[in-house]
Amino acid sequence: TPSVIDQMNLHQLAPITGTKVYMNLGEPDLIGKYKDLPFDGIGLMRTEFIFTHLVGAHPMYLLRNGEEKQFIDKMAEGITKVAQDVYPKPVVVRLSDFRSNEFRGLKGGEEVEPIEANPMIGWRGVSRYISPEYEEGFRLECRAIKKVREDYGLINVWTMLPFVRTTWEVKRVKEIMAEEGLIQDQQFKIWIMAEVPSVIFEAEEFAKMVDGFSIGSNDLTQLVLGSDRDSGILNTMGYFDERNPAVKKAIKMLIQGAHKHNKSVSICGQGPSLYPEFTEFLIQEGIDSVSVNPDTVAGTRRLVASVEQRMIMNKIREL
Ligand code: PEP
Ligand code: MG
Repeated sequence: TPSVIDQMNLHQLAPITGTKVYMNLGEPDLIGKYKDLPFDGIGLMRTEFIFTHLVGAHPMYLLRNGEEKQFIDKMAEGITKVAQDVYPKPVVVRLSDFRSNEFRGLKGGEEVEPIEANPMIGWRGVSRYISPEYEEGFRLECRAIKKVREDYGLINVWTMLPFVRTTWEVKRVKEIMAEEGLIQDQQFKIWIMAEVPSVIFEAEEFAKMVDGFSIGSNDLTQLVLGSDRDSGILNTMGYFDERNPAVKKAIKMLIQGAHKHNKSVSICGQGPSLYPEFTEFLIQEGIDSVSVNPDTVAGTRRLVASVEQRMIMNKIREL
C-alpha cells in the first residue's frame, strides 16, 4: 500500500478538474508508455502514423489492387490498442489529414495523388473524403472505426474530422459515415476541428451538425495570421503565435457560439502544451477540455486545477 506521502503526491499529480485534460497521441504503441498519466481521454489520436508505418501504402492503391482488407485491419488494430488501454475513457480518432504532397510519399501515392501548388490549403482534410478520387479510401477509414466499435465493443472510440471549411461538406461526410453504419447518437460522437476561420465565423451553424469542436491551433493560427506555420523566417520573427489577440478572439467566438448550442469545445493544437498563460486563457473562456502532449499532461492538470480554484474564489468574493 502506498504511504500517506505517496498518496498525497498521487493526489497532487491528478487533482479533479472541471475542465477535462486529454492527451495527444501520435503513435498507437506509445500508449503503453503513457497510459498511467492523469488524462481523461485521448483528445487527438493521429492516424497518419498508421498509414505511413502500419499500412505503408496509399489506400486508393490498395483498393485498386484488391488489398483493402489489409488497410482496414491495420487501422483497426492501431486504434484498438489505444482504445483498449484507456477504456472507458474516450479516444478521439482524427481521420486522415494528409496533404497531397505527403500522400504522394506512400506506396502507390505517386500514381493517385496530384501535384498541388499549395497543398497546405489544398486537397486535404474532409475535402478529400467527399471527392470521387478519395471517397472509397474514406469509406475504408470508416469501416476500420466501425470494426473497432462493433467487433471489439470499444464504444469509447469517437471521430474527429480535420480541416473543415464548409457546412455542406460536413453534411456530405456525415451521409457517407451513416452509409457505413457510423451514426451519430449518444454513444458515438463526431467532432470537427476548428482550424479554418470559416468555422469560427459560422460556429453556430456547424454546432447544429456535430457533437463538438476541437481547435487545431496550429492551423488556426496560421490561417488567422496568414503566416505559414512552416516558415522558419516568420517563426523567428515572432509572427506565428497562438497568443496573438486575433487568434484569441477567434477562440472566444468559437466557444461562445458552440456553447449557445450546448456543444463542447476542446483544443488539440500545440498552444496549451507550449504556453501556460494560453491554457489559463482557455480555461477562463470556458473551454471544456484541453488536449496536450504527454510530457505536459500532469503539469496541465495541476495548472487547470489552480486556475479553476482561483476562479471559484473570485466568484465567491463577488457574492
Ligand atoms: C492543428 O492544426 O493544430 C492540429 C492539431 O493538426 P495538425 O498539426 O496535424 O495540422
Ligand atoms: Mg491541423
